[in-house]
Amino acid sequence: MDNMTWHDKAEALSFRTQAFINGEFVNSASGDTFEIINPATGHSLAHVARCSEQDVNSAVEAARAAFESRVWSGLAPSERKAILLNYAKLIDEHKEDFALLESLDMGKPISDAMGYDAPATARCIQWNAEAIDKVYDEVAPVTEDALALVTREALGVVAAIVPWNFPTVMAAWKIGPALATGNSVIVKPSEKSPLTAILLADLAKQAGIPAGVFQVLPGFGHEAGQALALHNDVDCITFTGSTAVGKKLLSFAGESNLKRAFMECGGKSPHIVHYDVKDIEKAAATAASAICYNQGEVCTAGSRLLVHSSIKDEFVALLLKYMENWQPNDPLLENTRVGAIVDAAQYERVLSYIDIGKNEGATLAFGGQPTMTQTDGYFIQPAVFTDVTSDMRIFQEEIFGPVLCVTTFDSIEEAITLANDSDYGLAAGIWTSDISTAVRCSRALRAGTVFVNNWDGGDMTMPFGGYKQSGNGRDKSLHALHKYTEMKSTWIELD
Ligand code: NAD
Repeated sequence: MDNMTWHDKAEALSFRTQAFINGEFVNSASGDTFEIINPATGHSLAHVARCSEQDVNSAVEAARAAFESRVWSGLAPSERKAILLNYAKLIDEHKEDFALLESLDMGKPISDAMGYDAPATARCIQWNAEAIDKVYDEVAPVTEDALALVTREALGVVAAIVPWNFPTVMAAWKIGPALATGNSVIVKPSEKSPLTAILLADLAKQAGIPAGVFQVLPGFGHEAGQALALHNDVDCITFTGSTAVGKKLLSFAGESNLKRAFMECGGKSPHIVHYDVKDIEKAAATAASAICYNQGEVCTAGSRLLVHSSIKDEFVALLLKYMENWQPNDPLLENTRVGAIVDAAQYERVLSYIDIGKNEGATLAFGGQPTMTQTDGYFIQPAVFTDVTSDMRIFQEEIFGPVLCVTTFDSIEEAITLANDSDYGLAAGIWTSDISTAVRCSRALRAGTVFVNNWDGGDMTMPFGGYKQSGNGRDKSLHALHKYTEMKSTWIELD
């Protein structure tokens, strides 16, 4: 088994394609399916249940019944913890299956899926499980004549609508805290990458999570997603995806039952390199990985590189040297660092932005060409534009692909102005050897996460989310648990 290649393992892999409603794998009520294409080969991978309003109604009904029965919400936190730890263990045991499905479904390099996505999913469920019997409620400091309690209770039915770039991890960031706090959870994976969510359902059942408490509805956003967001018996919609769809979901929440609505949306993150950067080689290597990792399909991609003008020539030369290490290749080869773009639409979108950049007058200094076209897959050589100005669309709009815009600045104040000149505020970074510059700059950057002398550092213990149009909630850490609970004040008058 161990000397099998990932291609052999992919050949041998069997997986489910049905929806998971009320503890059973079922076809969509209409019987409709949609086709999944492997973006590395252009070949059909599977036909998956295409859920719509009727399936949403069944799942919400089952979720509500499970919640009301208290079969899950009524368990002691330590009992939910035990089941969720079992779930995390099963996920860990199936990490190769998760990694393969992720890679086949959305073009991610297998080594990234094995190295990050699969273990991060298990870790997220485990971390939330371990946390839940360690968080306390409050007793308010009031008069001697009363006992005033501030307690948190599960919301009820939580619908999680998630994207395709880190399909399992983004789902886990919602499922972990929402299940730990006692909710019933319905996941609507992206239509571009539904397979790992279905595997999550399979393992949830094996782990002992009761019927109706965890369900998965594969399908399209404007069908299953919209029906969930408009449903009057869904208590919370928790979303990761584009800002445009996030805005729609907020209005669906308002049009329906004012369900809690948490949005984790897009980004166009500024990556500042000051002239006093201590390790310029490391910064250049990191600037390359910050735009190439996961094909640039990362909400926190360091897509706007702001370099002090005095080091621009040296830095860009180093950057282009490190970009050479990020050549696309077959995602199932162990040493591939850049895989395929998720699908034809995204491939065309990225290429069209490369044309826009050229037409706007930016200089294409590296890459930007379709490559490996003989495979029928969607491969693009990562691109670097220099001479980019802040009024250009490629500087302002999220491309969600491997396209880096390089701009210069002359003072740190100018760098901060450029960095904050964005509708987004997800992440930002600064390389400097001066601690005061680092701290003052990180305070001034309007972003949910600031990286100092690194890019993409993080941990389950750290909240993750955006300022401005990058969103309104936080995933990860104990703060995420609050999203999935209501706060209750109880005033007990004493005799
Ligand atoms: P998307 O907004 O197109 O889709 C996300 C999900 O929303 C999918 O499941 C989709 O089916 C669903 N959806 C689409 N239209 C809908 C509708 N009308 N009603 C209900 N649901 C609908 O985003 P995407 O292309 O899958 O993902 C890329 C985006 O996600 C990027 O903007 C990226 O920055 C963002 N992202 C953000 C974070 C974060 O934590 N902030 C993390 C990862 C990705």
